[in-house]
Amino acid sequence: MRQFAVIGLGRFGITVARALSKKGFQVIVIDSDEEKVRIASEFTTVAVQLDATDANSLQKVGLKDMDVAIVAVGEDISASILVTMICKDMGIPMVISKATDPLQGKILAKIGADRVVFPERDMGERLAESLASPGIFDFISVSKDYSIIEIAAPKAFCGKNLGEVNLRAKYGVTVIAIKHKIPGIDEAGEPTFSEEIGIAPTSKDEIAKGDTLVVLGKVKDVERLKGII
Ligand code: ATP
Repeated sequence: MRQFAVIGLGRFGITVARALSKKGFQVIVIDSDEEKVRIASEFTTVAVQLDATDANSLQKVGLKDMDVAIVAVGEDISASILVTMICKDMGIPMVISKATDPLQGKILAKIGADRVVFPERDMGERLAESLASPGIFDFISVSKDYSIIEIAAPKAFCGKNLGEVNLRAKYGVTVIAIKHKIPGIDEAGEPTFSEEIGIAPTSKDEIAKGDTLVVLGKVKDVERLKGII
C-alpha cells in the first residue's frame, strides 16, 4: 500500500491527511507546531513535530521511504522551496506542493515538484463553473491546455450511444466516464438514487436521461461543448 507524508498541517494539509487516513492509507504527518501534531496524531500513523527545512530530521523519520509527499507549509515560499527540494533529493517519487499564486507555482515546478496544486484557485474556478451553468456539475483543470468537466447529458443525446453522438469528431473531446443514476427504495419506502459509473465507455454505450458525462478535452473544445448545454 502506498505511503504518504503530509508536511505542514494548515487547513489544507490536515484535510488531506485526514482524508487519506480515512481511506486506510498510512500517513506520516509533520509540523513544527506541537498542538497541530497532537491533533493529527489522533488519526494518523505517525505524527512528528519538527522543522521540515532540516533535511537531517526528515531523514530520521524515514521520509525517503514515502511514495508521495504533500508539501503544504504555508505562504512562506522559501520554506516550500526548501522542503520540496529536500523531498526530491531524498528520492520521493511524487512530491506535490501547494502554491498560493502562479509565481510560486512556477518556482515550485522548476525546482522539481512533480505536481503543484492551488487549492484556493482551483476550488474557486470549480465553484464558479458550477454556478455559471447549472448543467455543469464539476470542472477540473488538468493542465494549461486540458480540462475535465462533468455535464448533465443534454436531452438531444439521450437514447443514443456514444458512437451516434460522436463528440470526438464534432467537438474533439472524449467521454471518459458515464455516471448512471440507479433508482431504488430505502427501508422507509422513500425513493433513493445510487450512482453507477461506467469508466472508459465504448461507442456502443448508451446515454440515458439523467446521466452525467465526464468529458476530457482541450480547454477550447470543452468551452465549445459547454455552449450546447
Ligand atoms: P491553509 O490553512 O489554508 O492550508 P496556509 O497555506 O496559509 O493555509 P498555514 O495555515 O500557514 O497554511 O499552515 C502551514 C502549516 O505548516 C502550519 O501548521 C505551520 O506550523 C507549518 N509549517 C510552516 N513551516 C514549517 C516548517 N519549516 N516545518 C514544519 N512545519 C511548518
